[in-house]
Amino acid sequence: MKDPSCIFCKIIAGEIPSVQVYEDDRVVAFLDINPIAPGHTLLVPRDHYATLPETPPEVLAALMAAARPVARGLLAATRGEGFNFFQFNGACSGQEVMHLHFHVIPRRARDGVSFQWKQGKYREGEMAALGERIRGAIRRV
Ligand code: AMP
Ligand code: ZN
Repeated sequence: MKDPSCIFCKIIAGEIPSVQVYEDDRVVAFLDINPIAPGHTLLVPRDHYATLPETPPEVLAALMAAARPVARGLLAATRGEGFNFFQFNGACSGQEVMHLHFHVIPRRARDGVSFQWKQGKYREGEMAALGERIRGAIRRV
């Protein structure tokens, strides 16, 4: 499955150049062109799915299986001490390329990288009630 307007589909097809660091039959990984840290890698399924919930479980499993060697190699090659592993779902969350991808970002202590988020608090009873609503919704999907 390929989306002709998708930049990652074009990269996977070799129509746009990339610096690829890993491939198997379901997954490829290539360097992000605008790295947060050197070695910032994108782990991507070969088939086009926009977001995580739209992606079949076996493809997600293949991505997680590939994450292991990619992360280990990345840490070894960049002398990273740890890494961030995350992805965005939907424009509201910051997703710009609508082809599922995981960011793998090598990190070192005091590397100057920071992610800013502001954490809040629940009102009395709000957390338990919301948890119940979410559990019910998960049972129904
Ligand atoms: P996001 O959809 O917000 O998770 O981010 C998409 C990521 O794709 C950004 O970090 C971009 O720097 C990266 N990106 C966009 N075009 C290319 C490209 N041609 N090659 C490599 N990385 C890219
Ligand atoms: Zn695509």
